[in-house]
Amino acid sequence: MGKRKSRAKPPPKKRMDKLDTVFSCPFCNHGTGVECRLDMKNSIGEAFCRICQESYSTTITALTEPIEIYSEWIDECERVKNDEYDDNA
Ligand SMILES: [Zn+2]
Repeated sequence: MGKRKSRAKPPPKKRMDKLDTVFSCPFCNHGTGVECRLDMKNSIGEAFCRICQESYSTTITALTEPIEIYSEWIDECERVKNDEYDDNA
């Protein structure tokens, strides 16, 4: 029996420098309008739209990812929208 070289599949690499930091804007609907910035020094995450200048900031931890800031922003937008809706109803 010959030794068979098992060719191990390379593990999926998780590279931190290729995270998504660009998202579509909930205000102007520009597909790549929103960029997220993580300020680790001050524990502040910011998402802002370079098209319509809308922005949102929140506190972050070392584990926060840009997408989390973005989804928090979306949640916030939904809440505001619902509030407006309630007013009209
Ligand atoms: Zn925008």
